[in-house]
Amino acid sequence: MSALHDLTLAQQSQALASGQTTSVALTQHVLDRIAAHTELGAFLHVDAEGALAVAAASDARRAAGQSLGALDGVPIAHKDIFVTQGQPTTAASKMLRGYQSPFDATVVAKLKAAGVVSVGKLNCDEFAMGGANENSAYGVARNPWDTTRIPGGSSGASAVAVAARLVAATTGTDTGGSIRQPAALTGITGIKPTYGRCSRFGMIAFASSLDQAGPMARTAEDCALLLQAMSGFDERDATSAQQPVPDFVAALTAPRAGATADQPLTGLRVGVPKEFFGEGVSADVLAANRAALAQLESLGATLVDISLPRTELSIPVYYIIAPAEASSNLSRYDGVKFGHRAAKYGDLNDMYRKTRAEGFGAEVKRRIMIGTYVLSHGYYDAYYLQAQKLRRMIADDFQAAFRVCDVIAGPVSPTVARPIGSSTDPVQEYLADIFTLPASLAGLPGMSAPCGLGEHGLPVGLQLIGNYWQEAQLLHTAHAFQQATDWHQRAPAALA
Ligand code: GLN
Repeated sequence: MSALHDLTLAQQSQALASGQTTSVALTQHVLDRIAAHTELGAFLHVDAEGALAVAAASDARRAAGQSLGALDGVPIAHKDIFVTQGQPTTAASKMLRGYQSPFDATVVAKLKAAGVVSVGKLNCDEFAMGGANENSAYGVARNPWDTTRIPGGSSGASAVAVAARLVAATTGTDTGGSIRQPAALTGITGIKPTYGRCSRFGMIAFASSLDQAGPMARTAEDCALLLQAMSGFDERDATSAQQPVPDFVAALTAPRAGATADQPLTGLRVGVPKEFFGEGVSADVLAANRAALAQLESLGATLVDISLPRTELSIPVYYIIAPAEASSNLSRYDGVKFGHRAAKYGDLNDMYRKTRAEGFGAEVKRRIMIGTYVLSHGYYDAYYLQAQKLRRMIADDFQAAFRVCDVIAGPVSPTVARPIGSSTDPVQEYLADIFTLPASLAGLPGMSAPCGLGEHGLPVGLQLIGNYWQEAQLLHTAHAFQQATDWHQRAPAALA
């Protein structure tokens, strides 16, 4: 048997079921590996004692002959945006240093109920604002493919932990690309479900009309296993959808009409947006994505040329709407109810001012200022209202595209991972979100699957975007791709 950390989540689950290992042994192995790789900056908190206790309880259930779900006893870790009872939650902000939630986020509770062992909390960009994990108040997370480079963000460390095989799977959140982009830059698989699929209850709010939880793992199969447990209606989230949750795992291999073993994607129409393959995308990313399209074609799919004409506009639209919502959501951090409070202050206003000046990092402050500005009297119509109208048009463009295709495919990020510290201009950072923002604004499901190695041998991702509630089709497509390719099995050499 290969080393426990080389196994996927599904393989770890099988190893537990067949008695090849125990949850305690697996969890201890994971804890040792996490301790041996602190240089990656992945974990903000490790709960060894709590994890081993949960693992022991799983082993006891198994020994007692109970019939257990596939996730029972497998260790994972949560992005530090999910509140967790018994483990600190910081959103990678100084504002929430030492904060302990009295309850679990719904996604965390659902995974717990499935028997998952949570080993700790993962670094990310402060309040999930960023695309490089450089905005954490607790230091950078490093890309295991080249530790001088960013892993992407904001779920940067969720990607690092999987790519470095510290844990087989993690949770992430995606507001404008934060699951898909780090997955692409670290060579792993991640899916942002349809808005409303996973409960946002207990997910620290950034931009509530965009925030979604999702799984990150090495394979589409593992993502399906986790998404199954994470999904479902929750009355405590007002935008959670009353939508039946299909069997995502069964859907991976469910045969399409007319398909053969060699051509499992027969009949699938893959839309190729010309805006995703034009200027601004680096040659290595283009080449890997074009090869992936050819692979999909050889698996039976038909490529269809489409256009998403407002792709570029998604950048100003998102960077108005997301900061507007953030400025409102983050007003709760006032030093009164919870979190950081300035040590010395005069009157109440002075306390607010000092607390927020000390507690928030530069990018968070920038967004609060932008958001406050675009919502203010006299500017609201010119910015916020216009952005909302364009958001609708972007969603309409997708609906027009889905009349002629079933899934849309293209790059996730215009380049491979850049060096840590190499960006000084926030606007340049925002521009790099161009291919992930459109699906976020439309509320559509999107995923990233590894599809090649680009410059410097760094991973490139293929993005698949589906229509509403079509996660199963995305997972099926990615699974077929992964059965025919081995990009998802490549591991960073330095961390053998
Ligand atoms: N990079 C984008 C931003 O900075 C997306 C972040 C996210 O999805 N949480 O807002």
